[in-house]
Amino acid sequence: MSDFPLQPGSTIGVLGGGQLGRMLALAAARIGFATAVLDPDPRCPAGPVSARIITAPFDDPEGLRALAEVSDVVTFEFENVPADAVTRLIELGAAVAPGARALSVAQDRVEEKTFLNKAHAPTTVFAAAASARAIAEAVRRIGPPCLIKTRRDGYDGKGQTWIEHASDAAEAFARIGSKPAIVEAAVDFTRELSVIAARGRNGEIAHYPLGENHHENGILRRTHAPADVAPATTVQAEQIIARVLSGLDYVGVLAVELFELGDGKLLVNEIAPRVHNSGHWTLDGCEVDQFEQHIRAVAGWPLGPTHALAQTEMINLIGDEADDWPRLIADPAARVWLYGKDEGRPGRKMGHVNRLRPLKD
Ligand code: AMP
Repeated sequence: MSDFPLQPGSTIGVLGGGQLGRMLALAAARIGFATAVLDPDPRCPAGPVSARIITAPFDDPEGLRALAEVSDVVTFEFENVPADAVTRLIELGAAVAPGARALSVAQDRVEEKTFLNKAHAPTTVFAAAASARAIAEAVRRIGPPCLIKTRRDGYDGKGQTWIEHASDAAEAFARIGSKPAIVEAAVDFTRELSVIAARGRNGEIAHYPLGENHHENGILRRTHAPADVAPATTVQAEQIIARVLSGLDYVGVLAVELFELGDGKLLVNEIAPRVHNSGHWTLDGCEVDQFEQHIRAVAGWPLGPTHALAQTEMINLIGDEADDWPRLIADPAARVWLYGKDEGRPGRKMGHVNRLRPLKD
């Protein structure tokens, strides 16, 4: 078993080698750690910047054994890591952070909203439904329009469909692949915000300023931070995320996606038990960004300062937008992050750009 705080030179294991794994590896290197990444793709974005890459499926026993052997702590960059993989790592003696509970809660939208409401983190009204008939009943009870989402494996707006009438339940159920679902009351929100915070091994919590998020086709397009919000909104968001972090006995960085209502009330849309796209602004807009903060937390180090140094606009480079890199890189106001992916498929996040302005007084 590892001793915390980890010494510089220790190895952080990461399940998943996408862009989040890549930026975790870069942050870890900066403060003296090495990373070992497990990913099925030998050419994953984290590969070129990690000390060690283990190419294997996430549930491969040999791959997990190799990861556990070389890692002083294991973390993950996405929430759909198979729960058995985490159990296996723990059996192999690995310290895993955040823990299995955070993963299981975040993997299932019904469990997630049930947990949130128990933790006094309010959400929209919802019901679980595993058949067209159950969907029809839920829509009648909740009142249309409703959003139907698969309970598991949905991301970037995938596996979701609106339903206007209970009588359309069969078509709606077919559209989401006839999978167990959650039926949610439509939220009439004014804005989408997110709050990101870290919790250390000693229970200390550090919050970043809120971000305001804009989506296109279900994918995050841009985040503006610090968001222009009332002080009471910040207090609400910080209370919500503190309840979630404590309720999960969480270690690491976590993001909470929020809806802001007309009366200023916040509802939680979902939680992400990991570093988050809406926190990429912190790479240039804060002294200690979300990636270093996550590494600090899982390594048992003190958390770093989270206040904003600048007003930051983060814009995702999606699909072929990254082909515009010669122009972007020549713009002195743009901090460009490219993920090293070779194929700019439509909808694929290839990089992002942070543009900084002085903070308002
Ligand atoms: P999700 O995959 O849950 O993050 O949802 C993707 C997007 O769908 C969110 O960013 C919102 O814009 C929208 N959305 C999700 N749930 C609801 C809801 N209950 N009511 C209205 N819009 C929603």
